[in-house]
Formats: sequence, structure tokens, C-alpha cells
Amino acid sequence: MPTFEELLYASAIRHQHLCPRQVLGVRMGMMGGRLLGLDVPQTNKRLLTVVETDGCVIDGIAVASGCWIGKRTMRVLDFGKVAATFIDTQTGRAVRVVPSAITRIRAKDYAPEATSRWEAYLIGYQRMPEEELLDAQEVAMSFSIERLLSKDGYRVNCEICGEEIINEREVVREGTILCRPCAGERYYRTVEEPATLPVEQALEIVQELY
Ligand SMILES: [Zn+2]
Ligand SMILES: [Zn+2]
Repeated sequence: MPTFEELLYASAIRHQHLCPRQVLGVRMGMMGGRLLGLDVPQTNKRLLTVVETDGCVIDGIAVASGCWIGKRTMRVLDFGKVAATFIDTQTGRAVRVVPSAITRIRAKDYAPEATSRWEAYLIGYQRMPEEELLDAQEVAMSFSIERLLSKDGYRVNCEICGEEIINEREVVREGTILCRPCAGERYYRTVEEPATLPVEQALEIVQELY
């Protein structure tokens, strides 16, 4: 198992520097794995992580948990929150981890040598005891994990645009197989087309989870 420092280093390499949110991410990933009793970073696909923002924290969470978008073990739901839910896909157990309310305030106490607030976060988040830094809560998922994961090798073609659809993301309307964009959930339009969807509605579509 890599050490905390090794995980920070691995995250920093991906990110080209180390920043406070990566530190949070690494610690969140380590905590999530431990609370579920799973060795992290995982080398299989048992752990699934839903992260509630994009950005720096993702890199820390990914290296610590071993969950990656490219491996289909990480999902981003962009609620603009530094928070993540770690799901054991074998048991269905899930735990949501967030920085505690005092994380920012207390960081300075653990980094007296820091010369800026940013540096206080960077150092303080590494030293702060986990029970002060993070809060965790057992949760149940409000979507189907099976549906999200789907089946390997499954694919159909949209009967309108002809494009291939994998992971059972098609919709069937009156017996016709459609991709979600052709079914009306399109987040883009061709430059010739007039705008039909208000931006807010298009955003909702992007946010939707299965
Ligand atoms: Zn960063
Ligand atoms: Zn289509």
C-alpha cells in the first residue's frame, strides 16, 4: 500500500503541483476505503466513487481510491461540492465523506509556519486528525448501481442518428431505439439549428443520473 506521502506525490504529478483540495481528496479517498473495509487504492472495480464536483479534489480522490473515470469506477455529479460518496458495489454499502465545518478554521492551528491562507490549508489538511478534517455518514443510494454499471459488451444503434450506444443508455420510444440526444436530451445543437432548449434545461440534462 502506498503511504499518504506517496499518494500526495502521485496526485501532484498528475496535477503538476500540489494544492489543498488534492490533499483533501487523498484523505477522503483513504477514509472512504477504510470505512468500507476495502484496500485502497483498489486494483479491481469493486469500489465506485461519486464525486460532487470536478477539479482538484478529483485527482486526490482518484489516486487514493483507485477509482477512475476511465475505469468506470468514478462518476462526477457536479453539485459544486467538495464531497464524495464511496460505494461498495458488492454489498451496496455506501459512505459519503465531506470536509467538516471547522476544516478551514482549524487548518492554521496545524500549520503555524504557513505564510498564507493557501499554505495553511495545504499543510494543515495534511496534519489535521481525520476526525477534525472530515465528516462521514453512511448513506443509501437513490439510483440503481446495476443500471449505472450496466453490462460489458452491450451495444445497440440509435435508429435516428445511427450512432452506437453502449451501457444501456438508450431509450425505447414506441418500439424505436433512440439515443438520449435524439430522444430530446441533447446538450448541443448544430450551428445551423436555432436554440430550442433553454440553457437551464440543458444543464439539468447533463446533471441527470441514471
Ligand atoms: Zn489544484
Ligand atoms: Zn441518435
